[in-house]
Amino acid sequence: MKQETIDMVLKFRDDRNWKQFHNPKDLAVSISLEAAELLEVFQWSAEDLFCEGKKDKIKEELADVINYCILMADACGLDLDEIVSEKVKRNSEKYPVELAFGSKAKYTELK
Ligand SMILES: [Mg+2]
Repeated sequence: MKQETIDMVLKFRDDRNWKQFHNPKDLAVSISLEAAELLEVFQWSAEDLFCEGKKDKIKEELADVINYCILMADACGLDLDEIVSEKVKRNSEKYPVELAFGSKAKYTELK
């Protein structure tokens, strides 16, 4: 993630003296709530699995999730690029291309 983006989110927080409220538990709650708002965009949409007509709302809620993830990483002293890279590496080991290509099976079910 660009440092400029992280700095912008942290500046927004610091300009309002909100860091005092941003403990890891409440940030985790906030990530989950914003993810639920993202899910709400698709509520009752039946077979509609596309973004068309919903992009503005999706952008807003996805940005909320990402902003809280940035704040959570800051509160816990975590580097977002590093933790994402480590996770992709672990997932690559769990889902080797030769077993997982084109499959939606959980890694425990891959043969
Ligand atoms: Mg929201």
